[in-house]
Amino acid sequence: METEAIVLDCSDHGESDVIVSLFSREAGRLSAIAKGAKKSKRRFVNKLELFSFLHVSCSRKNTGDLAFLAEADLLASFMNIRQDLELYSLASVIGEFLLLGLSEDEPDEKVFRLSLWALHHLDCRQQPRAILVLFLIRYFDYLGYRPDLETCSICQTPVTTERQYTFHPNGGRIICSGCNPEKFRGGALSHGTLKILRAAQDSPLERLHRLKLSGPILREALSLLHNYGRTLFQRDIISWKTMQKYIGG
Ligand SMILES: [Zn+2]
Repeated sequence: METEAIVLDCSDHGESDVIVSLFSREAGRLSAIAKGAKKSKRRFVNKLELFSFLHVSCSRKNTGDLAFLAEADLLASFMNIRQDLELYSLASVIGEFLLLGLSEDEPDEKVFRLSLWALHHLDCRQQPRAILVLFLIRYFDYLGYRPDLETCSICQTPVTTERQYTFHPNGGRIICSGCNPEKFRGGALSHGTLKILRAAQDSPLERLHRLKLSGPILREALSLLHNYGRTLFQRDIISWKTMQKYIGG
């Protein structure tokens, strides 16, 4: 099989081999062993690194087996991500979410393009934290968990600036201050956050990077998506803590 792929994880196997978890364009999540990659560095040098974008040739006997990685060509190394701790920590969150949400032998072109989009914009250092927000809101959507940020999930009234809203990660829905007034003492979502997240859900990928997030809206959006992601996958996102150290949030 020949396919483009993004390296999501990499671990030593025995004395000379390396096992990589790939997000491949043709076959979704894919595990492959690179025989002798640690000893004879020539064939795989600088290629089997986290977040590298590769063209690979590999073979396997049966679907679901560990594949044998024959060759890898580097298409993009995203060198800034490798060398900058903040960018690396943000990319690690994206990688962790991809490993949680992708399945073997289920290619997903939309998620693949979104992942390349995110790595490219992180590497360019264009509002890197906002890129994580924009990636996550779209990623959850593509997995089938698009949060409804248009209407109150109880009274079905479209969002209006006359009411306040809280987000409920169970079911990815919002509830208005008319339906559940006592919940609003802890603070409502700002209308700015709701608006930018809705815009991110519907913007074409080529224009997604033009949406700007900063300050309280960025913090609120990150926190909402963190809660939602933990609820969806029913587990902690390990790389989130490290990321918060580097971005100082
Ligand atoms: Zn309501």
